[in-house]
Amino acid sequence: MAILVCGGAGYIGSHTVKELVNTYEVVVLDNLTTGFEQLIDPKATFVKGDLGDSAILDDIFTTHDIDAVFHFAANSLVGESVGNPLKYYRNNVSATLVLLEKMIEHGVKRFIFSSTAATYGIPDTDMITEETKTNPINPYGRSKLMIEQILADLANVHDFQYVVLRYFNAAGAHESGEIGESHDPESHLIPIVLQHLLGQCDKISVFGTDYETADGTCIRDYIHVTDLARAHILSYEGMAGGKIANKTYNLGNGAGYSVKEIIETCQQISGKKATIEYAPRRAGDPAALVASSDKISGELGWNPAFDLNAIISSAWAWHSK
Ligand code: UDP
Repeated sequence: MAILVCGGAGYIGSHTVKELVNTYEVVVLDNLTTGFEQLIDPKATFVKGDLGDSAILDDIFTTHDIDAVFHFAANSLVGESVGNPLKYYRNNVSATLVLLEKMIEHGVKRFIFSSTAATYGIPDTDMITEETKTNPINPYGRSKLMIEQILADLANVHDFQYVVLRYFNAAGAHESGEIGESHDPESHLIPIVLQHLLGQCDKISVFGTDYETADGTCIRDYIHVTDLARAHILSYEGMAGGKIANKTYNLGNGAGYSVKEIIETCQQISGKKATIEYAPRRAGDPAALVASSDKISGELGWNPAFDLNAIISSAWAWHSK
């Protein structure tokens, strides 16, 4: 029995592969448009190709005895999705449909889907639960919610089970120091701040200081990438063991930090001072997104092991290398 990890050369996918290979046979499918081959653990079998390529999927599903698909392969930049929605609907929705069709055709029935806090849009609560109304405000969030809805439809009529994991803000690096967060170009707050503190860029832009939050900057819930990886494995084992099926779970720390607080913590951990520029709001950004992860904690015993200091310290160790 093997697990197919689509997008296993990306940030969260590669960290999950690193945890999975300790126990499972792993096949990684990635087209390397945003991922990096060197992030893939050498114990995994790597297939370079597109998610929407049915011939490659036929080959993988006939060559390997795939028990489940973990699907990380997606474009995930809110601002970019506002400017180029078709890219998001093509890569995140259309390509995923090909993958799902091929799974059904080959009788592969377990699916773990990387979803996002962006499905909630601008929530009407300080603490988002899975019951909070979904109402995405950008094409990225909509592309993820569409697949969530399609999964529920599939599970109604096919021998098919899924777990949807709605990540809040993934951050941090693997404890081995071998892999960490790396995007090109980088758009995420913590790596940008750390790269700036290492002298790799002149200044940091804070996008928006007039939000309805205590210091006027956006609040997010940062969760360590290894905690996310473990949630995937628990979800898979929960499904394979018959304990759960067709579930949606939030994954966050339950604590929100503003952009200014993140910059402050990065300065403390690095011992360096940042040059900050206050800039207009970025398109598509809600003021605050903080998760309750009580559901997955109660049903699968998942609890985050890393707090904000541990997250930023691990990221600092990786970036410093
Ligand atoms: N942000 C910022 N400056 C940057 C990058 C991000 O002020 O250079 C802000 C961004 O507007 C958001 C928060 O930091 O409010 C987290 O953004 P990120 O892109 O890391 O994650 P997202 O919440 O979009 O998934």
